[in-house]
Amino acid sequence: MTALIQARGLRKSFGSTDALRGIDLGIQQGEVVAVMGPSGSGKSTLLHCLAGVVLPDSGTVSVGGTVVTALSEAHRSKLRLTQFGFVFQFGQLLPDLTAVDNITIPLLLAGMKRRQALTAAHGWLDRLGLAAAADQLPGELSGGEAQRVAIARALVTRPSVLFADEPTGSLDSLAAENVLVAMLELVRGSGTTLVMITHDPRTAAYADREIIVRDGQLAATDRVGIA
Ligand code: ADP
Ligand code: MG
Repeated sequence: MTALIQARGLRKSFGSTDALRGIDLGIQQGEVVAVMGPSGSGKSTLLHCLAGVVLPDSGTVSVGGTVVTALSEAHRSKLRLTQFGFVFQFGQLLPDLTAVDNITIPLLLAGMKRRQALTAAHGWLDRLGLAAAADQLPGELSGGEAQRVAIARALVTRPSVLFADEPTGSLDSLAAENVLVAMLELVRGSGTTLVMITHDPRTAAYADREIIVRDGQLAATDRVGIA
């Protein structure tokens, strides 16, 4: 079976820093993958290359048969908007928009009418137990609530892949667990593929597979899933 995401021979340097030094990786559709490894080992750069945010110096990434690394920035940008969702350590919600308006942004960018987008956004808030927070500004939310809003915003377009870079890294352990469980329920329920960077072994334990990045390479035992 061909992997949904297939990376071959990824290399990326920033000046004299070799962030990725030859990564081959296959991820199946619907798989939940935890990416672990020391700080500075190349985890975020790998995620950015898989998502077409950053182009590798050499190597290829394909997602669903589309060779992402062969696309122009305009086409990669469209792919990110329509096929991928992103969650970061700090939700990066727009501070002047309410929770529900933050969630509508990707739908409005995709051309949906505001009324329809609001209905969809309220649906996601309900599912995440955040109905009462709809009209609050990000600054009025707890850290865990803000991350759940960020997750709703990332999933509202029903992406095929959710990329999460330390999505619970800024939360205490109880809030982190709640956010993680909510995110996993949504991705597993919809068959969304999740690529999640985490430092926390307990978080990684929720994944189908853990991969470890060290010095820009995958730890030897992780070279499974290469088609
Ligand atoms: P991790 O996410 O595992 O902490 P990163 O992928 O962020 O690691 O970084 C890997 C290496 O590449 C680090 O040495 C980092 O300083 C460097 N690096 C990452 N992004 C950039 C950039 N935009 N400019 C310069 N150096 C970078
Ligand atoms: Mg990082």
